[in-house]
Amino acid sequence: MKPMTLLTALAFGAFAAAPTLAQRSPLPPPEPIQHITGNVYKIFGGGGNTLVLVQKAGVVLIDTKMPGNGQAILDQVRTVTDKPITTIINTHSHPDHIGSTDFIREKYPNVQVISSENTKTEIAGNPMYKAGVLPNVTYKDRMTLGKGKERIELYYFGPAHTTGDTFVVVPSAHLLFMGDVMAWDMAPFLPSGGASVLPVALEKLVSTVKGVDIVVEGHGHVNNWKGLERFTRFNRALLTAARAAYDRGDAPGTAVAELQKNPEFAPLLDTKIKKGLEYGNTPLARAHMNVNVAFQEFAGERVTTANGAPLPATDKHKGSDPKDTAPPPPPAA
Ligand SMILES: [Zn+2]
Ligand SMILES: [Zn+2]
Repeated sequence: MKPMTLLTALAFGAFAAAPTLAQRSPLPPPEPIQHITGNVYKIFGGGGNTLVLVQKAGVVLIDTKMPGNGQAILDQVRTVTDKPITTIINTHSHPDHIGSTDFIREKYPNVQVISSENTKTEIAGNPMYKAGVLPNVTYKDRMTLGKGKERIELYYFGPAHTTGDTFVVVPSAHLLFMGDVMAWDMAPFLPSGGASVLPVALEKLVSTVKGVDIVVEGHGHVNNWKGLERFTRFNRALLTAARAAYDRGDAPGTAVAELQKNPEFAPLLDTKIKKGLEYGNTPLARAHMNVNVAFQEFAGERVTTANGAPLPATDKHKGSDPKDTAPPPPPAA
């Protein structure tokens, strides 16, 4: 299954109608809740990571996975607290992050559902979504929730992975949740953000937020501040290399070859599929995808490559090798 088909399925919540994808590469189901630090827990699987903050008055959930995982999330929360869910923060509009918001809201009708304004606009603009996933509280650039040890800061630094990505900081835990701007420690999908704006948002994040040690990615890893700094340098270097290759009239692959010369970036250009991302791309393929996106942005073209389609050759740029972004071979039976 091509990454493009996967993202289309994700964007329209169409997993039930995509048996081929489900048979070949199902999303891993939610795993047992994992303690990160203090009152902060994480639930992996079933879509994006769900972060769980147990506070005095109740539980704050950040992201709610694909539809159909609401009960599994609540069951896992119940293993650490019997407090009610009071707040859901949705980092962005994708169904693997907001999918079970409506289920949880039916159980806890007073829950605050918070996102950035642009995320609400993206959700409201998708006819496939149920009304129950729409936020009832939005913010523009910055929002503070709670006080003292329970303070949570929400930041929007402009488009990156989407047009509305929220970064969540829990100062008392020295912790930052990245959403899909940083997931699996590889170049992110850019379905509605962009290659040129991504490093700008990351650099604003790194220069604004202080005192963070633990960086939780939108899928997969718990990383750290140094990992985020490297990731930010990588996405800036990718854009710089893409620009240079574009200006020379070289193929986009030459920009990735340039990145490969820097040993610091080797883990972000790995050629193996990550555990839990069997449905997705290798880190190297993602880097190629984002260079292709950058080329189309430089040329002022409509971006057709964000989901892995090869870059067509035009009078403005050379095309890409389809092998660069090809999906991984099916797993051996
Ligand atoms: Zn995601
Ligand atoms: Zn996403």
